[in-house]
Amino acid sequence: MRASRRGLILAALLATAGAAAGATAGAAAASAGDPEPVAFTYLGAGGWLIRHGDAALLTAPFFSNPGLVEVGVGRLQTDTAAVDRFLPPVADVPAILVGHAHYDHLMDVPYLARVHAPGARIYGSRTMVNLLRGDPALDPDRLVDVEALAGDHTAPGLWTSTPDGRIRFMPLRSEHAPHLFGIRLYHGEVDTPRSRLPERASEWLDGPTLAWLIDFLDEDGDVVLRIHYQDSASRPPRGFPPPHDGIPVDVVILCTAGSGEAEGYPDALVEALAPRHALLGHWEDFFRPMDWPLRPVPGTDVQAFEQRLAGLLPEGSEQVRPVPGETVRIRPRTGAQRPAPSSP
Ligand SMILES: [Zn+2]
Repeated sequence: MRASRRGLILAALLATAGAAAGATAGAAAASAGDPEPVAFTYLGAGGWLIRHGDAALLTAPFFSNPGLVEVGVGRLQTDTAAVDRFLPPVADVPAILVGHAHYDHLMDVPYLARVHAPGARIYGSRTMVNLLRGDPALDPDRLVDVEALAGDHTAPGLWTSTPDGRIRFMPLRSEHAPHLFGIRLYHGEVDTPRSRLPERASEWLDGPTLAWLIDFLDEDGDVVLRIHYQDSASRPPRGFPPPHDGIPVDVVILCTAGSGEAEGYPDALVEALAPRHALLGHWEDFFRPMDWPLRPVPGTDVQAFEQRLAGLLPEGSEQVRPVPGETVRIRPRTGAQRPAPSSP
């Protein structure tokens, strides 16, 4: 296994910081005295339900999965029966994070937010807010434009905390990988609130793409697990977190679809973060109904991506590519870390 010098140094720092809790994704049979694991349930496409005790967070999932012809020339509609069937209970979830506003990330969100997650606010770009304003039944106060809060690899952005104070998240300026031959489909911004929800894939414009830094906190406000999440592959350094605040990233959630179109992805990101765990999402063919046999998303060599990733992760780190509905359990660090005083 190849590991960069920087990765090795970071891994060594993690180990000496008591961070190497011996966690094993997917096999965290907690014994007495172990901290409760954080549960990552993969929902398909960009969707993850992340739970730790009573704290929970959702990243925008997608269950409707219309076929290629419908996406190309037809009218799209949320398959409410599919959402009802495949979405686990999320009634207590206070926040839904959206990385970009393409149909396969945002189209099911209005329905699931109204019916299944009535207490959740929805965080994303101004384009995301303006698109969802097209649903008159969705309270506009639940839609949060976070573009002005975004950080990048040069400077931190601002954190938003959930009401219970157990999770905080920071948007990061990222980008959307081209779909094919350098072309980005459905690319653009929506500047004014829509009067109705889009009916065609081409109306779900991506808007500025965001990555997310997500911290799970203990009762004292110390970070027990840090996650870097992307719902689109990006070229470095887009989507990178701000300069290190002393708290390592434990888990990266990578976007497999389109990874071959984003030069340098995920190499530079994984080498910079040296995570203990890598979770692979958005890898299955989302042009097929959820209950059909799984197969990789067209145009992406999923196995090659996994092999490359194996050579990038630090020694002892692990990658998991769950199937939709599967839960990966990851133990928090044994030594929780207090956020730096400069953290907003
Ligand atoms: Zn997209």
